[in-house]
Amino acid sequence: MNYLLKRPDTLSDNGSDNVIIMGGGLTGLAAGCMLTRAGDRVRLFERDPDVGGLSRTVQKGGFRFDLGGHRFFSTDEEINGFVLDLMGPELLSVERSSKIYLKGRFFDYPLKPMNAVFGLGVPTTLKILADYGGERLRGLGRKETPVSLEDWVVGKFGRAMFNIYFREYSEKVWGIDCSRISAEWVAQRIKGLSLGTAIKNAFFKMSGRDLPTLADRFLYPRLGIGRIAERLREEIETVNRVHTETGVEKIIHDGTRIRCVHVRNGKGPEKALGREFISSMPINTLVKMLDPAPPSSVIDMACRLKYRDIVIVAIMVDRERVTDQTWIYIPEKGIPFGRIHEPTNWSADMAPEGKTLMVVEFFSFKGDAVWNETDERLTDMTVKHLERLGFINASEVIGSAVVRAPKAYPLFEVGYQQVCEGLYDYLRRFENLHIAGRVGMFKYYNMDHAIRSGMTAAATVLRGSLMREQAGKEELVLAAE
Ligand SMILES: Cc1cc2nc3c(=O)[nH]c(=O)nc-3n(C[C@H](O)[C@H](O)[C@H](O)COP(=O)(O)OP(=O)(O)OC[C@H]3O[C@@H](n4cnc5c(N)ncnc54)[C@H](O)[C@@H]3O)c2cc1C
Repeated sequence: MNYLLKRPDTLSDNGSDNVIIMGGGLTGLAAGCMLTRAGDRVRLFERDPDVGGLSRTVQKGGFRFDLGGHRFFSTDEEINGFVLDLMGPELLSVERSSKIYLKGRFFDYPLKPMNAVFGLGVPTTLKILADYGGERLRGLGRKETPVSLEDWVVGKFGRAMFNIYFREYSEKVWGIDCSRISAEWVAQRIKGLSLGTAIKNAFFKMSGRDLPTLADRFLYPRLGIGRIAERLREEIETVNRVHTETGVEKIIHDGTRIRCVHVRNGKGPEKALGREFISSMPINTLVKMLDPAPPSSVIDMACRLKYRDIVIVAIMVDRERVTDQTWIYIPEKGIPFGRIHEPTNWSADMAPEGKTLMVVEFFSFKGDAVWNETDERLTDMTVKHLERLGFINASEVIGSAVVRAPKAYPLFEVGYQQVCEGLYDYLRRFENLHIAGRVGMFKYYNMDHAIRSGMTAAATVLRGSLMREQAGKEELVLAAE
């Protein structure tokens, strides 16, 4: 994408030519970076003290951790090229090696057939294969599309596999029954994967290359995933402004165009004018900020979309390394967190020399018992369970940190697509408003999709400017004739 449109001296001074970007996660930052490179004037507003949103890296006393380990992997060559260019030698190529804790034992993840046979036992393995075979046969005559996660997984993997692996983990992640989670989500998430593909991949290492779920190498910045956001911010700030700790509060419109946004920072409120507006804030937050307010039916739709939140607990350990794993999945209900990662296995620079840290993810709904638990209790609980799983001794713990991240996952309840379509349809009336990103579009976007989504929003803005500039030139020619 290569647009060079404007010279800064052709832009107006009152800010009405600005492109306003709401939200400084990867989506908003990627949009800002593209627009900055094209010579546009941009102001980006981010509510938090740091940029990066969900893809930020927290630092504490020489230790660094992401909000759940974030690997960069993409099958989109343009996005790969963009990130490689942006990050240069900061990027490491990391081998993925993950385990899953089932029935009191650790198994390779993705499951390896021999490992699974020995671990689960021959009868369970035969049951998995028989169920899978039965489902494949039944699937030949089946016409209806699966509605829920449960329908989809049983159809692809068989009921035994669903019960052993998918049910507990999915219910832990989403906090609702698998029959209420939309099939649409799981189909996107593990697109192209079936038990057959997983087995073929395990034996022949042939089909996982293009399946993000099975990819065995990924890219990671030496100082944590948050470096991608920081580099994007640096690019924007070569000529434009990124305002952190500045939340958008109100979006003023005239029915077809957005006129300005009201933001607030430590110094007080401010009105920011703009020509085009890109939002990567949660779509329902955006709808509720519109002034005049949308009809109550639209507000009702906005209220129906929910998000799953996450609480991250990092435990600093006085040891060189605890595991050699990338991720460890913990479906079991008796253990309150769902996933563990050890950042030093991603990059040795994530902890001071000779030390490491274990980071666990508690899936939660803001305001529930986990979210409201004290940091001290969450830390104690985590240490106790890490000890029970055989990873650490409490005496080795030298520090901890707790981070609560709201709106980590759009909650894909059955029927969410119609609600989203209703909101997209309503928002289309604002010709200079562009929505993008994971929470902004309510889509299961990974980082590469978020970057792509921000770039697409920037390209739409630039195309509009190009067309207006062209029309302006034609008007001048006509006036001169
Ligand atoms: C636990 C976990 C693990 C993940 N692992 C991976 C992985 O391994 N690989 C991968 O590719 N992806 C992963 N992802 C997904 C990745 O985090 C997202 O795709 C990406 O960060 C989305 O970026 P975004 O900018 O669209 O959204 P966000 O990061 O949510 O950014 C939205 C921004 O808007 C800001 N905002 C909200 N309200 C306002 C307001 N009123 N005013 C101003 N700003 C506001 C927020 O503070 C936030 O910074 C993971 C996600 C989670 C939750």
